[in-house]
Amino acid sequence: MGEGTQFVDLHDSISHVVLSEEEIQAKVSELGKQISADYGDEPVLLVGVLRGAAIFVADLARAISSPVELDFMAVSSYGSSTKSSGVVRILKDLDETIEGRHVLVCEDILDTGLTLKYLLKNLASRKPASLEIVALLSKQGKQRVPISCKYVGFEVADEFVVGYGLDFAERYRNLPYVGVLKPEIYAD
Ligand code: IMP
Repeated sequence: MGEGTQFVDLHDSISHVVLSEEEIQAKVSELGKQISADYGDEPVLLVGVLRGAAIFVADLARAISSPVELDFMAVSSYGSSTKSSGVVRILKDLDETIEGRHVLVCEDILDTGLTLKYLLKNLASRKPASLEIVALLSKQGKQRVPISCKYVGFEVADEFVVGYGLDFAERYRNLPYVGVLKPEIYAD
């Protein structure tokens, strides 16, 4: 960084905080305890859905006491950055086979459910021993397809949120809390 560089404070772009860092950390630890109780000594393969779930999965893995293995998938839904189109493309597949393994898909946010529906169908065809979902957030009343999500952190209102992995145009993922952007940010 050169002398005189102007740092833009990310927090200045936020209109209000929806979930504080403390609330999120407490919930992640609670989810970790629940998951550990359910899987016990069985190894669980956490499949993080990139890129939004990267931060969540990193924290969740450390909150689980069962043996944890990690793998990642990257998907992209066609369409604008703030609306789900339902058409999903696998940009990065899992590195390993999941046949006979206990798979727990980790999602940042369940919105319409279209991304997860596609992912689950795809993963189920690979014959895992079990297949469940943990989503940190779920948007109330938005699901267009029924998704049975075993673990849900928080139900949130239907507004676009950023932070703790969630982005707007690839930014704000590094905020430690979840919040709503000021309207002028979208107008840029
Ligand atoms: P769905 O297919 O509609 O359930 O969309 C799921 C994906 O859309 C999530 O994994 C996010 O990447 C993205 N998404 C949905 N709502 C939001 C939001 O409020 N902020 C940031 N990303 C979102």
